[in-house]
Amino acid sequence: EGIAAAGAVTGMLRRAQGALHDAEQMLGDLDAVAADGDHGRGMCRGIDAAVDAADAARAAGADAPSVLRRAADAWADKAGGTSGALWGVGLLALADALPPDAPVTVDHLLAGFTAARDQVQAVGGARVGDKTMVDALHPAVEAFAAAVDAGTAPAGAWSAAVVAARAGAASTENLTARRGRARVLGDKSLGVPDPGATSLALLLGEAGAEAGV
Ligand code: ADP
Ligand code: MG
Ligand code: MG
Repeated sequence: EGIAAAGAVTGMLRRAQGALHDAEQMLGDLDAVAADGDHGRGMCRGIDAAVDAADAARAAGADAPSVLRRAADAWADKAGGTSGALWGVGLLALADALPPDAPVTVDHLLAGFTAARDQVQAVGGARVGDKTMVDALHPAVEAFAAAVDAGTAPAGAWSAAVVAARAGAASTENLTARRGRARVLGDKSLGVPDPGATSLALLLGEAGAEAGV
C-alpha cells in the first residue's frame, strides 16, 4: 500500500511536470505584465527538482509522505521566487497529513489540503482577494471540504476542487495585486489573471487527472 501510494505521488508530479512545461511561456507572460516574468521558469525549475527528488526517494523505498516531503524540499530549494517557497511550504503540509503506511483516504486529503492552505496563508500573509495563488487555493479547499461533508466520493470532491480553483484563478483577472512583486505595479495587473493562481489551478487539475478524476 505504501509503495502504491508513493507511486501515485510520483505519477501526479510527473504529469504536473509535463503540463507546467507546456504552460511555461504562458505563465511567464502573465507574470511579465506587472512583475518580473519568471513564474513559468520558476515553476518548471521547482517541478523538475521535485520529480527528481521524488523518484530518488521512491527508488530508495520511501513511503508516500516521505516521497512528497523530499519533493517539497527540493521544490523550495531549486525553484526560487516567492511561489517556490510557498509551494514548498504547502506540499510539506500536505505530506505531513498523509499516513506513512496505509491507504490515503479522503479525510487525509482534506486534512492535508486544509493544512497546506493554512500554511501558505500563514507564511505568505495573503488573503482571498489579494490576487495571489490563495485566490485559487482557498476556494478549492472549501469546495473539497463541502463535497466531503456531503459524502461525495474522492474523485468527485477533487473535481469540485478543480472547478473552484479554476473559477478562483479566473476571478483574479478583475483584481489589483496587493501582495507579491506585482503589488508595486498593481494597477497594471488589472484585466490579467494572477500567474500563481493560474498555475495552482492547472497543477491541481493535472494531478487529479492522473488520479482518474
Ligand atoms: P516572484 O514574484 O518571486 O518572481 P513567482 O513569479 O514565481 O515569484 O510567483 C509569483 C506568484 O506568487 C504570484 O502570482 C502570486 O500568485 C504568488 N505570491 C506572491 N506573493 C505571495 C504571497 N505573499 N502569498 C501567496 N502567494 C503569493
Ligand atoms: Mg515572478
Ligand atoms: Mg522572481
